[in-house]
Amino acid sequence: SGPGKKVLVRANGWALKLWQRNIWDEQKGEIARNYVHGREISESTAREWGLGFALDSWDDLCRAAKVSKVPEQVLIEGGLAVERDSGGIYDKFRNRLMFPIADVTGRVIGFGGRTLGDAPAKYMNSPATALFDKSNSVYGLDKARHEIVQTGTAVVVEGYTDVIMCHQFGCKNVIATLGTSFTSGHARLLQRYAKQIVLVFDSDVAGMEAANRALEVCLAQKIDIKLAFVEEGKDPCDYLLTAGKEAFLQVIENARDVMEFKWDRLVKGLENSDNLADRRAAAEEYLRSFAAALDSGKIDSISRGLLVNKLSRIIGLSVADINAEIGKMTGRIR
Ligand code: ATP
Ligand code: MN
Ligand code: MN
Ligand code: MN
Repeated sequence: SGPGKKVLVRANGWALKLWQRNIWDEQKGEIARNYVHGREISESTAREWGLGFALDSWDDLCRAAKVSKVPEQVLIEGGLAVERDSGGIYDKFRNRLMFPIADVTGRVIGFGGRTLGDAPAKYMNSPATALFDKSNSVYGLDKARHEIVQTGTAVVVEGYTDVIMCHQFGCKNVIATLGTSFTSGHARLLQRYAKQIVLVFDSDVAGMEAANRALEVCLAQKIDIKLAFVEEGKDPCDYLLTAGKEAFLQVIENARDVMEFKWDRLVKGLENSDNLADRRAAAEEYLRSFAAALDSGKIDSISRGLLVNKLSRIIGLSVADINAEIGKMTGRIR
């Protein structure tokens, strides 16, 4: 087996120091500091979040590692360097603004790097390592934990800059997934600190798709989860900078419960279809979600009765038939 977790944590800390020296170096860091300034991230925010700069170089980090006696094996296993087919290694992160990703205790478990050039991948994350598991980690939890516990709510956004800007504006119960969709692992982690989760999605195609994937996960969780979208074409970072804090808080305030969201989809689906097959598909989609929510305990028996009555009226199926359908579906989900 490769290097242990402690070794990888130490290597991450070492790499971060190098990248931080770069960004605050008068000459070397100018491009990155200008970028940060252009994004309206203040110097104190950048320092608080530990931002760094991986130079536009193939071997800045690998050469420093030789001097500091960090073994190549550790760089490779930790996702800091990549092995060449022809032998030798090169820096994985090049010409990128570096965001250290910490666990709840503040240990640096991985990195996200945003290109400052025109690399095809806008963001690059550390690969999965013994330390870093994207579907069970979130960005910013060490800094957001206190406020999440205080408010009882964890707000989940999509990107690193969204989290940073939220905190800069004083919304400190905000964290992000790490370029993956919301998973049951994220829900489980956040439930330790929050009574309620609000997922805020970018209003772009990727954001809508992410929301649809997240819906299924949310239905299977007992914890109260709501969904919100920022205005047309924006994400939380852009929105805070153009519309301000009050408007963003309103977006969170207006978040819709998962089942409400599904109900709205059902109503729209029924409105927009006049043929039986489409109406049937819309009703079935809602019933499947309903069954999943019953299975997870999200819907209690009183709400069930009320909802089934309401449902019976809008889809034109008897209460008994709906209950029979749900009966067939529950227990077979998961
Ligand atoms: P920025 O504001 O810096 O342009 P963003 O955070 O708004 O970036 P999005 O394109 O909205 O970026 O994507 C949301 C998140 O998805 C990113 O923060 C990142 O974690 C992840 N992501 C985006 N593009 C990639 C990519 N090419 N590879 C891996 N992860 C990505
Ligand atoms: Mn987006
Ligand atoms: Mn953005
Ligand atoms: Mn975005």
